[in-house]
Amino acid sequence: MGTDRRKVLAAGLDSLSRHCQTDIPHSLQTRLALGYFFLIAALLVLMNTYPLIMSQNLMFRSQQTALANQTALISNTLTTADELTPETVEQAISQLEDLDVARVVITDEAGLVLYDTGETSAVGKYALTREIAEALGNNDAFSSQYRDGTFFSRAAAPVMNRNQVVGAVCLYEQDSGQGALLQELQRNLRLISVVVCLAVLVLFWAFSAFLSRRVRALLGGMRTVRAGEYTHRITMGGHDELAQLAEEFNQLTGRLQTTEEERRRFVSDASHELKTPLASIRLLTDSILQDENIDRETAREFVADIGEAADRLIHISQELLELNRLDEERTRRREAVDLNEQVERTRRLLTPLAEEAQVTLETRLGQACAVWCNTEDTVQILKNLMENAIKYNVPGGRVEVTTCRRGDQVSLSVADTGVGIPEEDLPRIFERFYRVDKARSRAAGGTGLGLSIVRDTVRHHGGQVTVRAREEAGVVFEVLLPAWQGEGEVP
Ligand code: ADP
Repeated sequence: MGTDRRKVLAAGLDSLSRHCQTDIPHSLQTRLALGYFFLIAALLVLMNTYPLIMSQNLMFRSQQTALANQTALISNTLTTADELTPETVEQAISQLEDLDVARVVITDEAGLVLYDTGETSAVGKYALTREIAEALGNNDAFSSQYRDGTFFSRAAAPVMNRNQVVGAVCLYEQDSGQGALLQELQRNLRLISVVVCLAVLVLFWAFSAFLSRRVRALLGGMRTVRAGEYTHRITMGGHDELAQLAEEFNQLTGRLQTTEEERRRFVSDASHELKTPLASIRLLTDSILQDENIDRETAREFVADIGEAADRLIHISQELLELNRLDEERTRRREAVDLNEQVERTRRLLTPLAEEAQVTLETRLGQACAVWCNTEDTVQILKNLMENAIKYNVPGGRVEVTTCRRGDQVSLSVADTGVGIPEEDLPRIFERFYRVDKARSRAAGGTGLGLSIVRDTVRHHGGQVTVRAREEAGVVFEVLLPAWQGEGEVP
């Protein structure tokens, strides 16, 4: 009764549910939170440093260009003087228009300060700063530092005369205007970062709430189904992976529900079937025990009836065991079987039953009708179908068994002129314990399992069985089985 399938499905659902219960909320949320956190942190660090470094560099460069131009101008003016003395320097500088720098220092070739516009003049002292030393070595020099919102820049250039370094010019500049610009940029970036951070946090909170609500709905559904509520379905909108997961889960639950319903129906039908002969045995034994003066003949009749009920119980349990075997066995033994030979054999076996029911058994056998099945299963199929065709026939009726080859398959059809099966019952006729006319079936010793055994056996061999009503009277069962592909006689 597919108990294995049911167990596997239930175990699958159970482990899926337990897995989700323990792992998903933690790992999903933690991973998402950490992922977002690192991403945003990296973005903000980048946003706060890269533009600042770039702007600082740009400002350094503009300072450098401005100072370099002015040092070049002063240096060129001084080149014309024959000798650098405080007086000649003073005179040359006075010819220049107002210089836009914080301090001008001019030295001779030994680094002695000849001119200084600084607050505390260094004239007469040696000024050997790095920039002046570089300039005296015939190189231009520039350095700039950004401290407390102000750019402190220095630029130096050599003063040349007849290709000789005769002195150095060094300009000092303090620019707090550009520093203020940079500070404002920094402030704005910080503000944007805080706003972005808050916006992302709100968005993430909303997204994770949405996500965890969906995951919780899934978990809730799984727990409900695990508790045995197989009719429960998860409703989840959208088309994302979680919606697909819910859909898959619903389908899995649907299958579990069908299997569970089949199992319940089977248990109830089987108990019902077993109850009837057991009840008659109980009744008959009570009758014998209670009637002290029961005559020998009546007692014999009662015991014979008990025997019949016991036979019926044996018959039902044999068929149930057969169905269980078909459920459990994955593969069946296969061999080449001459179907025509088995049809004839079954016909001989059932002839007494057919004569008793006044039914004619006819066979029309085709060529090359060996099937890839096994003898016991072939006989089982033939016996169940042909016996039914006799049992559910009318006196004077006919049963016609036909075999023929159809490509890779062999067709076996069992047609009768019997009572037929109502159209609405045809789709359910292969279900276990399904019977159209219960009384007639029981009277004929039927259990309602014969056609289920036929269907399962045929499926096991890769074939199929169908039934249809005949226009005149009765029904036709058609079985398609894989043909034996060998040449000549069946070994
Ligand atoms: P049973 O043991 O009752 O014959 P089956 O599974 O073989 O059980 O058949 C199920 C039911 O299908 C029968 O009870 C009967 O009502 C119907 N049936 C099967 N074969 C025929 C047939 N050839 N003609 C009419 N009814 C049939």
